[in-house]
Amino acid sequence: MGAVVTTSLATRLRAEGIAQVRADAPLAALTTLRVGGPARALVTVERDADLAAVGRVCLAAGAPWAVVGRGSNLLVADAGFPGVVVVLGRGYRGLELLGPQVRAGAAEPLPTLAVRLADAGYTGFAWACSVPGSLGGAVRMNAGAHGGEMADHLVDAELVRLRTGTRETWPVATLGLRYRHSELPDDAVVVAATLRLGSGDPTAVRAEIASIRDWRRRHQPLNEPNCGSVFTNPDGDSAGRLVDQVAEAKGLTRGGARVSERHANFIVTRPGATAADVHGLIVEVQQRVHAATGIRLRPEVTVLGDLTAPVGEAAG
Ligand SMILES: Cc1cc2nc3c(=O)[nH]c(=O)nc-3n(C[C@H](O)[C@H](O)[C@H](O)COP(=O)(O)OP(=O)(O)OC[C@H]3O[C@@H](n4cnc5c(N)ncnc54)[C@H](O)[C@@H]3O)c2cc1C
Repeated sequence: MGAVVTTSLATRLRAEGIAQVRADAPLAALTTLRVGGPARALVTVERDADLAAVGRVCLAAGAPWAVVGRGSNLLVADAGFPGVVVVLGRGYRGLELLGPQVRAGAAEPLPTLAVRLADAGYTGFAWACSVPGSLGGAVRMNAGAHGGEMADHLVDAELVRLRTGTRETWPVATLGLRYRHSELPDDAVVVAATLRLGSGDPTAVRAEIASIRDWRRRHQPLNEPNCGSVFTNPDGDSAGRLVDQVAEAKGLTRGGARVSERHANFIVTRPGATAADVHGLIVEVQQRVHAATGIRLRPEVTVLGDLTAPVGEAAG
């Protein structure tokens, strides 16, 4: 049955005029954790009409959809994703400087944006140099670091709704942004965002960026595949402290996945690791912390697919 659905989904997407469609496309390389199985179909979209077509095909086929940005907050199940994974192509890049506001395409990588905005004399966005996501993923996650977050700057986000194929502009107050969370509808693809920023001396912002990068290199395992913070911080505490001092989990290993010795809230992988390894570690750390403190650590990492589905049979 799998092969029939695969052919039909990819074929129908191509028939809708989407140029870049791959069937049974491996996803691991699209993520910073480097684990997980294939998508039934992977499409790179360049225009809103492509997104509308993805929505039509998925609704007609009863197939799920998912958007992948830079894959820096994703754990893809070993069985893969039983539907269409959408990646925004170059048609969704670009930056417009509009006085105190800037508008950028959702496919722009956040670190590149941070540097370009610094060079252009904008202030307040240096923190974003250290978050290796796309602008769209950062809106979805309300990404933040070093005292800043997307909610501080966003004026609005432009969304294409897969159910209707329409583009809508949502003011920041309607996005339901809180700590590493938004209330975007499940069919909303962020395609652009407008930010309001300060202005100042580019040299000072560049120095801030250099210092943030240096701090990251010293405190995070940036030379090993990871997905950033695995858990969100519980109220009034730090997930890293709980994983390190309560669960004593630094160095804890399962298969090819390991709790980083450098930063306890990071799980790193080596070649051959599976999503099951990563998930197993997540559950074990959660259990240790819960048993000792009653606190249930909440994963920050987003799961794509069904972690319990048998490999080779991505479940719907
Ligand atoms: C080394 C490292 C350090 C990190 N540090 C931080 C940090 O300091 N602060 C922080 O907040 N995060 C951090 N992260 C996590 C990650 O970079 C952020 O969550 C980022 O916002 C994810 O963006 P992405 O494009 O990679 O999204 P993905 O990982 O591709 O996807 C994450 C979620 O966003 C959705 N999504 C992606 N693009 C879109 C879109 N265009 N429209 C709608 N939904 C979309 C996906 O469907 C998924 O639900 C770090 C990650 C790494 C690897």
